[in-house]
Amino acid sequence: MTQNHLLTSGLLSRRLFLGAAGGTIVAAAAAPAWAQGTTSPDGTTGEPLLDIANEAAARPMPKMEVEPPIEPERRVGYCVVGLGQFALNQIIPSIGESRMSKLVALVSGDREKAETVAEQYGVSTEAIYNYDNFDEIAENDEIDIVYIILPNSLHAEFTVRAFEAGKHVMCEKPMAVSVEECEQMIAAAETANRKLMIAYRAQYEPFNLEAIRMIRDGELGTIRSLDNVAARPIDLENPADEWRVVKDLAGGGSLMDIGIYALNGARYLLGEEPVEISATISNPEGDERFTDVEDILSWRMRFPSGVIANCLTGYSFSGNRFSVYGSDASLTLEPATDYYKHGLRVMTEEEQTEPQIQEKNQFALEMDHLAEAVLNDTPVKTPGEEGLQDVRLMLKIYEAAETGAPVTIDWSYQRAVPAEQGADQQA
Ligand code: NAD
Repeated sequence: MTQNHLLTSGLLSRRLFLGAAGGTIVAAAAAPAWAQGTTSPDGTTGEPLLDIANEAAARPMPKMEVEPPIEPERRVGYCVVGLGQFALNQIIPSIGESRMSKLVALVSGDREKAETVAEQYGVSTEAIYNYDNFDEIAENDEIDIVYIILPNSLHAEFTVRAFEAGKHVMCEKPMAVSVEECEQMIAAAETANRKLMIAYRAQYEPFNLEAIRMIRDGELGTIRSLDNVAARPIDLENPADEWRVVKDLAGGGSLMDIGIYALNGARYLLGEEPVEISATISNPEGDERFTDVEDILSWRMRFPSGVIANCLTGYSFSGNRFSVYGSDASLTLEPATDYYKHGLRVMTEEEQTEPQIQEKNQFALEMDHLAEAVLNDTPVKTPGEEGLQDVRLMLKIYEAAETGAPVTIDWSYQRAVPAEQGADQQA
């Protein structure tokens, strides 16, 4: 169970946020506490470990690379739309750990909640909007980027309205619930001449970037196969899970919500696009959670290189891992796409190693990626086209499961910015 589920929709105090390294709640600061030497990289807080053997205690703290933030007046202003669990527990607190981003506005249907959050994070009450007067954000020059964190079926409407208001957009995954909606969002970005980025946080996360780098640098030899599981139990007692089992709001079940990590992961790890998909769905009988959306979905993708990827998602069990098998070595990342505490293992016939990578706040990294793209007018790594590709493929996965026959992919897609960009700097 992730921290997101442990911390339900209650408001977090301004002094509290999730530590990038450990998921424990630590005191807020410009840099994570462990980077300042008071908290260990595994997230435990407290006094320095002076009571352990002198030899170990005398060792200097490893030097962490912490890039300083840019001047506050140059930071790019984010307006967060939807004050649900992910916004309150991960995104808004992470803005404090970013280098180039600042929180300047909020959009919520609950004024009281928004005022509390505004007070906690120093946002002006004049910069609180609701879903009806949302379009007034056009008059607020402090807002550069609108971050959409609403149920999936609302992503398209608010993205298009944000572009019409002249803003850039960060939109949560899945981009939308249909191909047509994705295309409308991309067209609206083009018309407004603004940037659209889909929040694929794993493509900015250092362990995932290191896995991509190792594969691209040939350290595993020729890649032969991959398996990827992304699953979590859904809990109808949790308000954030209620809309996830309603197809009209979620667009689908486990695949649209969490399985998308396995799909997107297979694609960025391999750096190529599937050409054939087969799939099977299994829903437990009599489980009220799965009358409208799927539970277990297992699918297989064949890639042009000959690689076969086996992927699994579900809403009735936990799993968060991928393994990539090469002719010389294999690697496993587990957890692979959780919020923190990733674990990388590399295996050859002779040995097993666990490369040490510095954990970083992936939410801050992705927000800064878009902020930097806005400041310098550079392309984003995960644009609308990347979100559209996953939506198209997910709909093909459903089609393959429904028909029971393999489907072939009859379109082409090429990344404008390769997934490995940034791997050298961030790993
Ligand atoms: P949530 O239910 O906690 O938050 C959704 C917010 O939307 C709530 O504040 C709710 O009040 C508001 N809302 C507005 N109109 C609504 C309507 N018609 N029905 C229901 N709610 C409505 O959900 P969440 O877990 O925060 O997820 C929000 C989005 O963030 C989803 O798209 C989800 O896929 C995404 N998400 C991404 C990650 C990630 O790791 N990138 C993690 C969790 C959620």
